[in-house]
Amino acid sequence: MSILTVTLNPAIDISYPLEYFHLNTVNRVAQVGKTAGGKGLNVSRVLKELGADVVATGFADDILGAEIVKNLKNEGIDCRFTKISGKTRNCIAILHEGQQTEILEKGPRILREEAKGFIDNFKAILAEVEAIAISGSLPDGLQETFYSALIAIANKQEKAVVLDCSGSTLEAVLKNSHKPSVIKPNLEELTDLLGKEVTLENIKDSLQDKLFDGIEWIVVSLGKEGAFAKVSGEFYRVKIPKIDVVNPVGSGDATVAGLVYGISQNETVGNTLKRANVCGMLNAQEAKTGHINKANYQALFDQLKVEKI
Ligand code: ADP
Repeated sequence: MSILTVTLNPAIDISYPLEYFHLNTVNRVAQVGKTAGGKGLNVSRVLKELGADVVATGFADDILGAEIVKNLKNEGIDCRFTKISGKTRNCIAILHEGQQTEILEKGPRILREEAKGFIDNFKAILAEVEAIAISGSLPDGLQETFYSALIAIANKQEKAVVLDCSGSTLEAVLKNSHKPSVIKPNLEELTDLLGKEVTLENIKDSLQDKLFDGIEWIVVSLGKEGAFAKVSGEFYRVKIPKIDVVNPVGSGDATVAGLVYGISQNETVGNTLKRANVCGMLNAQEAKTGHINKANYQALFDQLKVEKI
């Protein structure tokens, strides 16, 4: 079973741990952490750890992009990125005095020919995969309808698409006639989307909004509270036990990995929702972003409850 992940604006994530951050002078860093970053790459790693064959695609240049590809290949992920003339980005996190200051590069501008090359590449890969996870923001140069174009191609081949993006990019997809099979907003993203505060009290009504018509799975992740979902018109609450959390960054991406894996395997709705939450929880229990320890999988899975409401 193969799953395709789409990361259009990947990055090298750099972390600089500093005891003190001195402004307007030199800061020397002894221990530098560099990893291949971007939401879709976290999804790719977790899928691999779940045991799926993973094909990763997106845009990459021949310097940092090549580094990202090398890194993913070392983890056994098949990489089919489209080469670009712009520069793949670095994203920097300065960890200081218990705080985190981030410097995020916007990333390259994609040329029209490169976008076209990507679409051709995407069509070619689709025949080899069962499902697709699309994550993150659109780089400059692509139209707001770019994800909808990918979804239209996937729908034509009857391949499920799990989409995890936010803001105007998500809104553009929801207003388009080509619908993804799954979206995974959190409460903040739903609030942003609907222009009114969405809480656990009004979530059922909120998910009935016309904006979500035609979307089979809406999975609202709720951090330590688990998740709420609307699947084929039915509502579900996923309850999870309290766990010791090390680093929850990337838990949403791990959740996406669980969803696309469960759906590609035709698991039941209940088991897919449980799988997604277990993946999010396992990621939160690790220091490394986009990583799960499968040894703890079953013990957590058995503690989750999915209630129809
Ligand atoms: P996002 O980062 O996209 O907002 P969440 O923070 O909701 O995603 O996390 C996704 C999933 O990971 C949750 O639904 C839950 O299953 C798990 N998770 C995240 N944070 C915690 C936590 N503090 N305790 C337990 N589980 C967590």
